[in-house]
Amino acid sequence: MIDFQNRVAIVTGAGRGLGAEHAKLLASRGAAVIVNDSGVATDGTEGEQRPADEVVGAIEDAGGAAVADYGSVSDPDAAEAMVVKAVEEYGRVDIVINNAGILRDKAFHNLEWENLDAVLDVHLKGAFYVTRPAFRLMREQGYGRIIMTSSASGLLGNFGQANYGAAKMGLVGLMKVLAIEGAKYDIKVNAIAPVAGTRMTQELLGPMADRLQPALVSPVVAYLASEACDVTGEVYSVAGGTVSRMFVGLTQGWFKHPDKDGALTPEDVEENLSAIRDEVDYLVPTTNQEEIQKIAQSLFS
Ligand code: NAD
Repeated sequence: MIDFQNRVAIVTGAGRGLGAEHAKLLASRGAAVIVNDSGVATDGTEGEQRPADEVVGAIEDAGGAAVADYGSVSDPDAAEAMVVKAVEEYGRVDIVINNAGILRDKAFHNLEWENLDAVLDVHLKGAFYVTRPAFRLMREQGYGRIIMTSSASGLLGNFGQANYGAAKMGLVGLMKVLAIEGAKYDIKVNAIAPVAGTRMTQELLGPMADRLQPALVSPVVAYLASEACDVTGEVYSVAGGTVSRMFVGLTQGWFKHPDKDGALTPEDVEENLSAIRDEVDYLVPTTNQEEIQKIAQSLFS
């Protein structure tokens, strides 16, 4: 049985949608939760305390422990204060779930910098701001679990979401690096790419939204946030009860030995494109070194 007794979790954007379900599930299994939410509209404007307060109320009514935090993740001082609050209230931070998010969709040719900054600030820089102070504590205590909320819009692309897709793929890069830097301190860092019916997706998903409840994403987050979590540096696609790993693969590719066969030319690439792209026997390198090893094997064979 996975539980979070004596564990302290920060969940950003936990006043609604996915974050609210993550917070409630963790709290129902014993975690003390900082329910962060600045209570903004989907585009990040305005703001109110009610969403965070309601989730804290629901957790307390169910016998759990939670405290509200209304700071914006895109403000480094507010993010640091969130971590300080967790330590003041509950003595430590074991889990960070970076979930807060907004949308400013625009076809790329019409994208204003204001809408680029707003989206990068919340999704990508917000995760830096909240995670770094927590990561420092996790290193000291030799334990931590961090979850990033990525998206298929970054991993696979989606029309009108250049800002959002770049931020979401940026989170995968951050996750990969922290998985490496945190490894020797038992800090595990993973990402999810969820699909769920929330206010963010109601227009997109239509009637399918009923089958894609946010609560069906939270069990994966809870596993990744638990002591039982046995993986790091990975991305999981999660929707409506389906769970799959998504990964970066390296094809066996094609090699022209510079000493024996001459230098690679653009025409070589054109002629050998199908071999270069052939997915048979692809590798899934988990570190830079594994890719370098494959390159070295070709060069020195
Ligand atoms: P949602 O709008 O229901 O919830 C997002 C919450 O984040 C809101 O309560 C909002 O007030 C809060 N928030 C926004 N900016 C904030 C800030 N600066 N500081 C603190 N809180 C802030 O949306 P959701 O669908 O539950 O989305 C949660 C996360 O999941 C987002 O990162 C989103 O991009 C990601 N995601 C969702 C889906 C999906 O299908 N719903 C798919 C892929 C990724």
